[in-house]
Amino acid sequence: MSAAVEQVGPGVYRRPDGLVNSYLVTDDDGLTIIDTGWPRSWSRVEQAIAAIGRSLNDLRAVVLTHGHPDHLGVAEKARQRCRVPVRAHRDEVERVRGKAKGASPFALVPGLLPHLWRPSATAFVLHATRNGFMTPTWVREVSPFDDGEELAVPGKPRAVLTPGHTEGHTAFHLPDRGVLLSGDALVTLDVLSREKGPRLLPDALTSDPAGARASLQRLEPLEADLVLPGHGEPWSGTPADAVAQARAADR
Ligand SMILES: [Zn+2]
Repeated sequence: MSAAVEQVGPGVYRRPDGLVNSYLVTDDDGLTIIDTGWPRSWSRVEQAIAAIGRSLNDLRAVVLTHGHPDHLGVAEKARQRCRVPVRAHRDEVERVRGKAKGASPFALVPGLLPHLWRPSATAFVLHATRNGFMTPTWVREVSPFDDGEELAVPGKPRAVLTPGHTEGHTAFHLPDRGVLLSGDALVTLDVLSREKGPRLLPDALTSDPAGARASLQRLEPLEADLVLPGHGEPWSGTPADAVAQARAADR
């Protein structure tokens, strides 16, 4: 298997895509991609699918934690090429379509300005721009799901609505695999400061910081021993422990 994709759990693969993570979840029915990475990552997605011994024909769905461009990435391309649904929480649909107020990547710019004295933050902004963050391809048709729903896609992820980072941000629980995909509700890498370990993303990248803090409570009780975040390395431990560390880091 190439270094561009790594197995992290039973039938769960991580494709680290330059500071952001995309995940591939497989079962006998095929393959689900949970977040697709940067907008200019199609060839890397194809390579990763081949590297785990699958093909684009196995793709059944793209599932999104939220509609930021570094997560929705090539979802529209996958929808058109592979004729698969793109799923997002009902409250996130307009953002994924590029229609929500605040969906534009430029909406993040004012909040970022005070961070740009930090070389690591400037590097992130340049990296994001080079990878198509400012020119996302919005998804034209989105299939909504609701909080608590078990999605009928490979891996059967269960939706855990965790609003705050965005209005319909959703984490996904794979109970039978002991895995929580936490998206950007809880990460292990601050993309602006490059600090590591379980934490919230900076308020500058978050629509509703108080909501994001409150949403940690929704992750806390979930049973899992592996937390796979939208940014940063996989974290071995329970969601409750990860949340405790994120709260400690937030003080
Ligand atoms: Zn995000």
